[in-house]
Amino acid sequence: MPDSAQYDVVIIGSGPGGYVAGIRAGQLGLKTALVEKDNKFGGTCLHVGCIPTKALLMNAEVYDYFKNSNEFGINCKDYSVDWAVVQERKNRIVTKGAKGVEFLLKKNKVETIQGYGTIAGPGRVSVKDSKGQSREIKAKNIVLATGSEAKMIPGLEPDPTTILTNKEILSLKEIPKSMVIIGAGAVGVEFASIFHRFGTTVTVIEMLPHAVPLEDEEISTELEKSFRKQGIVMHFGAKVQKVSKTAKGVSVEFTGSDNKAQMIEAETVLVAVGRAPNTQNVGLEKTHAKLERGFVKTNPFMLTDEPGVYAIGDIVANSPLLAHVGEMEGVVAVTHAAGKPVEPINYNQVPNCTYCEPEVASVGLTEKKAREAGHKIKVGKFPFSANTKASILGVREGQVKMVCDEKYGEILGVHMIGPRVTEMIAEAVAAMHLEGTAMDLAHTIHAHPTLTEAVHEAAHAVEDWSIHI
Ligand SMILES: Cc1cc2nc3c(=O)[nH]c(=O)nc-3n(C[C@H](O)[C@H](O)[C@H](O)COP(=O)(O)OP(=O)(O)OC[C@H]3O[C@@H](n4cnc5c(N)ncnc54)[C@H](O)[C@@H]3O)c2cc1C
Repeated sequence: MPDSAQYDVVIIGSGPGGYVAGIRAGQLGLKTALVEKDNKFGGTCLHVGCIPTKALLMNAEVYDYFKNSNEFGINCKDYSVDWAVVQERKNRIVTKGAKGVEFLLKKNKVETIQGYGTIAGPGRVSVKDSKGQSREIKAKNIVLATGSEAKMIPGLEPDPTTILTNKEILSLKEIPKSMVIIGAGAVGVEFASIFHRFGTTVTVIEMLPHAVPLEDEEISTELEKSFRKQGIVMHFGAKVQKVSKTAKGVSVEFTGSDNKAQMIEAETVLVAVGRAPNTQNVGLEKTHAKLERGFVKTNPFMLTDEPGVYAIGDIVANSPLLAHVGEMEGVVAVTHAAGKPVEPINYNQVPNCTYCEPEVASVGLTEKKAREAGHKIKVGKFPFSANTKASILGVREGQVKMVCDEKYGEILGVHMIGPRVTEMIAEAVAAMHLEGTAMDLAHTIHAHPTLTEAVHEAAHAVEDWSIHI
């Protein structure tokens, strides 16, 4: 049944891309509707991604402090994990976030519609509610923000206890004794860090030669060294051949880098081999929008090849699958739809953060990529072992590495591993956004004692005048 309402913008999907686009559209005075198929707002990020994982990582960190309390002169003998309370705390944080999103949408006069949205034709969105009733709404602009789902190994089906994706693993009723994690990207290493610290025996199997393979090789190697020291077993250049359910859990057969067949048995297996975009069954075939390996191609203003249809977030081709990228793409799309000036995203200046222990964060070109791109470079490094705040925190590992243009010192990339680096990367992003040089950072006063002094010192190192090493 056609609905007479005509919106300036209809957004399909309420993840960080969609809900931020909604809020910004409301702020810009656009008559906006947000269509969400689930009965909660916030998408993957809030419910089964960024937020619950970071909540669990926080619990693991607190547990670590108890384990190492003697180092701080605190004798703590009787402590244990109450998994139900850990889960409750995580759920409370997620619920608070979802309520916050709902409040912000209301505050900015975004109309929310529950149902499955599809593009019905130019300027038309069809919404099917949970009772199967369909209605059509008119939109001058449509923003597709339908996000992504975990990729599965062909033939495998996730279940609540044994074969897990990022969804099932977050609702486990107890801490498993053992876990095989297939994939050493951000999702894989974060869950490895969580469960290893809670006492699970963790084995990671990765097809590529390194963990977090998009990071600077030196940083990946340092993470692998740290994981091995902690007791996480890792196999690289390894190919999973078969995953089978057994009486006690699962068996995972794989060939190692030496091509020899191996088998591991565990209670659980986490499949973390990447994400597939939700671009099927959303009506894209009724538009001129083009796809690339399932992802939607857009121009720098997030507009697809169909006039008035934008795509943002995890479904966008050649754009990293990160919440903060989706958010910015949402802002760019609706600002463009409102006819207001807006700067396209510079994808070379996107911070990448992996919240494992130790944390990894980066922006811009790796040393290898900078050389491959033909830059003549100079590199400055500073280890956290020489940073006093890191000593106060009880941390000895990690470093900040800065890759700069040799002639003018322009910062091309910054790569960090160590304590709180996911907070510290913002400085490097801002410096790069302002086309800053190592010298600019070297002359920026950094408070003492802080971890950020390691960034200061890496900038000094680029110019060959490290002070504290
Ligand atoms: C375990 C894990 C940890 C992560 N941690 C981080 C992190 O720390 N930092 C970070 O930046 N990124 C992280 N990510 C990635 C981040 O979650 C995604 O990049 C982000 O959620 C993408 O946002 P989105 O708006 O594109 O889509 P999503 O968040 O996937 O939301 C899409 C929404 O659209 C709805 N939807 C889909 N189809 C329809 C339809 N046809 N009609 C109506 N509604 C529909 C879905 O129900 C969902 O609510 C993590 C991901 C995972 C899996």
